Amino acid sequence: MASSSVKVGLRIRPLLSKERGQTTTINVADESSLAFKGQTFTYDHVFPSDLSQNDLYTQTAAPMLKGFLEGYNVTIMAYGQTGSGKTFTMGTTDVSEQSSENLGLIPRFVADLFENLEGSVSENEKTSFKMKVSFLEIYGEDVYDLIGVNSTSRQTGEAPSKSNNTSLPVREDESGRVFVQGQNEVDVYDADSTLQLLSTGTGNRITASTAMNAGSSRSHAVFTVFLEQTVQSTASEDDIHVMTSKLTFVDLAGSERIK
Ligand code: ADP
Repeated sequence: MASSSVKVGLRIRPLLSKERGQTTTINVADESSLAFKGQTFTYDHVFPSDLSQNDLYTQTAAPMLKGFLEGYNVTIMAYGQTGSGKTFTMGTTDVSEQSSENLGLIPRFVADLFENLEGSVSENEKTSFKMKVSFLEIYGEDVYDLIGVNSTSRQTGEAPSKSNNTSLPVREDESGRVFVQGQNEVDVYDADSTLQLLSTGTGNRITASTAMNAGSSRSHAVFTVFLEQTVQSTASEDDIHVMTSKLTFVDLAGSERIK
């Protein structure tokens, strides 16, 4: 079978205390399939409910770090019903409120990324890097910036509407590249400043979503890390090449309540 650059993993979350007394009807058959109502479903991976956050990270996001550092774009998406564990898995809850064991994919990836960048020195090349992040929320047709100047109006806690929020336009440039006009791209220098922006943006999302109630399950969050690496040969000052790559984490809206 031809290998694909898209991989799908299914994670089953444990039953929550409020679900006590209920039983699970999904049976994990092996590491890539499960049985449900007499049928078998196959994925690239099936992750059982007792899998730790760290093991999930090691098996999914960690292997993508090498490619990202080599200049490849990477996207990680979480999809599922409301309450199925997307936010927990991605780690878009406020990092400062999470125990280290429960940290999700984004904080783990960011920490690993800076550790690798800081450690990348070789005899023949000198590498320097610049990093920026953006954090957007998509609600229906509207795109809101969760970090930087455009997000301040969101702190009122009111549900998004065109009147009290700035919805950013989505445009296409001459080469067909789609971009969000006016989105903030904020410079980051270390894991802490990056995760601080993740927390701030998540706070803006949560404040607004509390007022939205059920609407919160209809908003998507897109956290993007832009990396620019400049590699200069130590033998010749003119031998410079610049490599850019983009890492996108998407917390996709669930479309219905779990019941
Ligand atoms: P979603 O973002 O899909 O709506 P959440 O991530 O908010 O779902 O998860 C719903 C609840 O389940 C939260 O209280 C979360 O802490 C808990 N939860 C989700 N996945 C797990 C897991 N793998 N282990 C323990 N608790 C989990």
